[in-house]
Amino acid sequence: MTSGRAAIFLDRDGVINAVIMRDGKVSSPCLLSEFVLEPGVEEALSELRRSGLLLFVVTNQPDIRRGLLSPQSLDAIHARLRALLPVDDIAFCPHDNVDECDCRKPKPGMLLDLAKRWHVDLSRSFMIGDQDRDIECGRRAGCITILLGKSYNSGLEAKADYLVSDITAAAGVILAAQP
Ligand SMILES: [Mg+2]
Ligand SMILES: [Zn+2]
Repeated sequence: MTSGRAAIFLDRDGVINAVIMRDGKVSSPCLLSEFVLEPGVEEALSELRRSGLLLFVVTNQPDIRRGLLSPQSLDAIHARLRALLPVDDIAFCPHDNVDECDCRKPKPGMLLDLAKRWHVDLSRSFMIGDQDRDIECGRRAGCITILLGKSYNSGLEAKADYLVSDITAAAGVILAAQP
């Protein structure tokens, strides 16, 4: 029997906060001062929360492993995120490919762990991301997937269930699907 609550798993960089371009490459904030919310995020998450959905952030942060991001900075950024947005939990993967961990997306470890701890019904849950690896991760976990179209990602390989322009549109898709 299927039971449990529906949840929204949100990638962080490029979904909740703006990405940082360094040397022409998409990168993540390394300092609290670089952490800037994307437009419409507060409204979208508040609306999802009001409809009873759990909200989780699931983020790869390999810059920890690479020595480019300090754990203290990451803690400060996530404390700010929690203060600004109604999220239930934040999971991050501090590893890089060489670590062969189970949490680095596209592996679904972070979603599976959160689902177990919070009694989530993954089949009624959504993964929102801005990269193919987010969509692949969501699919492997058994979630419905939503890709935010971005200039830096073709988004074509992973074939998300929905392709939308921004988080406001993603929230619209999710709310329309609720019973
Ligand atoms: Mg991202
Ligand atoms: Zn990991």
